[in-house]
Amino acid sequence: MRVLAIGECMAELAPAAELDDYHLGFAGDTFNTAWYLAQIRPDMDVSFFTAVGTDPLSYQMREAFATSGIDSSYVLTVPDSTVGLYMISLENGERSFSYWRAQSAARQLATDPQLLARAMTEVDLIYFSGITLAILDVTSREILLDALRVARASGKVIAFDPNLRPRLWSGTSEMTATIMQGAAVSDIALPSFEDEAEWFGDSDPIATVSRYALARATTIVVKNGADAVHFRHGDMSGVMPVPPLNRVIDTTAAGDSFNAGILAGIAENAPLNDSITLACRLAGAVVQGKGALVPIDPTLFEAVSVKGNENA
Ligand code: ADP
Repeated sequence: MRVLAIGECMAELAPAAELDDYHLGFAGDTFNTAWYLAQIRPDMDVSFFTAVGTDPLSYQMREAFATSGIDSSYVLTVPDSTVGLYMISLENGERSFSYWRAQSAARQLATDPQLLARAMTEVDLIYFSGITLAILDVTSREILLDALRVARASGKVIAFDPNLRPRLWSGTSEMTATIMQGAAVSDIALPSFEDEAEWFGDSDPIATVSRYALARATTIVVKNGADAVHFRHGDMSGVMPVPPLNRVIDTTAAGDSFNAGILAGIAENAPLNDSITLACRLAGAVVQGKGALVPIDPTLFEAVSVKGNENA
């Protein structure tokens, strides 16, 4: 199974152990998911579709893709531009984020419909998010949504995390309307209840499941922090508890890593409850580490079961 994640990766400046020193890394929601997928499934063909600039930072980002085992054949180069940047500040143990991404090259990622179509033809599973849609202008959004619609009609599996980020949108109604357009081209929806409740007014996770089912997603998995995961797969609905943890250090990329677990399970044709178990274990390990990309031991996240083969 070949997987294509589409979105923005940013340079990250995180406080280092030395006072006033910063560590340069690379992260971003769909990239984080691709990264975790490549870590837990080193044999899987994972590609990232984005755009970078022509400066040294952009080249370093490309190198980071390669060293993470992520294919970058579909990384566009936008002349005279650079990648987005965010910096993490620590004050009394609380993290806050400053962003410089308004002019990032990734905003141009959907300007070439032919390249998008070709990339989608060459893979089996395509993953994007509400942030991918948010950073694009209206024309690029249409190009991306059209390409996804065509890919889905030709049998590709489309997975979507709404990842609601109001600050990236010009208004709440634009955000909610476009997110539901994203959902309408997707087979798999992976929303987080807290955000959905805030911006769509869902009274409980079942309401979130129902709204994405109405948008015609066939597999819906609703994350809810330490609370139970609600899901629907075809006509089957259910709830699965999240294994409790003794300590949580940093919840950055909890949802992104969880999604990687779900995508790994989908790619392996595993039953959805096994995929959710894998996703909870992976996200559980990630929230016990620091930062977006937490090194993990892939042998702890091997395939659990394969549909139709009870003994696998
Ligand atoms: P997001 O990052 O999208 O807001 P959540 O906070 O809902 O996502 O977390 C995603 C997943 O991470 C959860 O479904 C759960 O598996 C795991 N997780 C997050 N917080 C905790 C926690 N406090 N204890 C155990 N697991 C957690």
